[in-house]
Amino acid sequence: MNTIIEQSFSVPFKYQVCFSEDIFSLDNKLFTELLANGRHAKVLFVVDEGVSQAHPQLLSQLKAYAHVYSEFFTIAGEPIVVSGGEAAKNDEAYYKEIVEATHVYGIDRHSYIAVIGGGAVIDMVGFAAAISHRGIRLIRIPTTVLSQNDSAVGVKNSVNLFGKKNYLGTFTPPYAVLNDFNFLKTLDDRDWRSGISEAIKVALIKDLSFFNWIEDNSSALASREMEPMKELIIRCAQMHLDHISGKDPFEFGSSRPLDFGHWAAHKLEHLTDFRIRHGEAVAIGIALDSTYSHLKGWISEDDLSRIITVFKTLGFELFAPELGGENLIKGLQEFQEHLGGQLTIMLLKALGKGEEVHEMDHDLIYQAIDLLKSYNQTQNLVTN
Ligand code: NAD
Repeated sequence: MNTIIEQSFSVPFKYQVCFSEDIFSLDNKLFTELLANGRHAKVLFVVDEGVSQAHPQLLSQLKAYAHVYSEFFTIAGEPIVVSGGEAAKNDEAYYKEIVEATHVYGIDRHSYIAVIGGGAVIDMVGFAAAISHRGIRLIRIPTTVLSQNDSAVGVKNSVNLFGKKNYLGTFTPPYAVLNDFNFLKTLDDRDWRSGISEAIKVALIKDLSFFNWIEDNSSALASREMEPMKELIIRCAQMHLDHISGKDPFEFGSSRPLDFGHWAAHKLEHLTDFRIRHGEAVAIGIALDSTYSHLKGWISEDDLSRIITVFKTLGFELFAPELGGENLIKGLQEFQEHLGGQLTIMLLKALGKGEEVHEMDHDLIYQAIDLLKSYNQTQNLVTN
């Protein structure tokens, strides 16, 4: 005799994604307003070393800010500075250091961890926050284009394991996200450019008018004009938020539309030992899957040319030697294993319209790689 009791409940999630400048200048109250829930808060700060080096005044500014707003919060211990970039996700010592700090400083579920940094440090600290006490409130303060318009506004966090991207991680919404455009001024050109590929991604699969806008503004973005960058980040973040709340925030299905171009990108990051950064690899992955979509007869040569030209205007390289050979194709299988279930890859049916497929023709992938290589060398689109 079987006894089955059915349990069912849903938990609404709500968090604010804020856009500001100079968030720790003494007259900017946004950070304290986020904490303001009538209780004095304890905040453990973790800072990306690349950010603290580029903004040498940041740590003392944090302390001065905490001093002025001491009625709202106290900094737990000293801000922890961790290596920036993928190293933070590749070495387990980093997330364990954060877990240990929650223990040492008594960071409980009513305290906060505030992380200031690029997408990699935010992913790693988010993972440590999610597993400590089964979830400590996380305030993300992203400092790169990619983290402001994409990675930090969503619900995922992770570290890498077994040579695989994002193998350990959780789906945990942040307490809040605070984007400070001022941080972007110190990005090197590669990181400034890198995050634009995630905006091109959402535009290509969902919104032709946004793609047209990026195309029109590609030269201004390439020359680091701040106003179009702010607009790009806000539009892209909004599209990500809409997507996440719309359908499957915790990715129970096999479909992951926002991973357009990512099966190859994730593999390429590992094959190049992270010489190619995430956003750069995404640009190559998008170019590859767009070329594949063209070879499949879905998008015209003109449309493919527009995509390639936007990336080239922005300064992206669209080929890497590691693209050739058997290894890249293994990325398809790893992508399927990571998502679980059926292989699901987003391609382009038209500019602004993605369409999922459940298999990819390996010969066509190799043709697409050859085409991309020739285009990268000649700067001309040669399709025959
Ligand atoms: P990154 O975090 O690797 O940072 C790149 C470099 O920039 C680092 O050396 C860092 O120290 C430095 N840096 C950061 N901010 C700076 C600033 N303002 N001034 C000067 N230097 C600065 O790069 P990223 O592109 O932000 O993030 C990439 C990571 O994001 C990858 O690990 C990727 O897997 C992850 N990601 C996660 C999600 C998600 O949903 N969680 C989505 C997309 C990407």
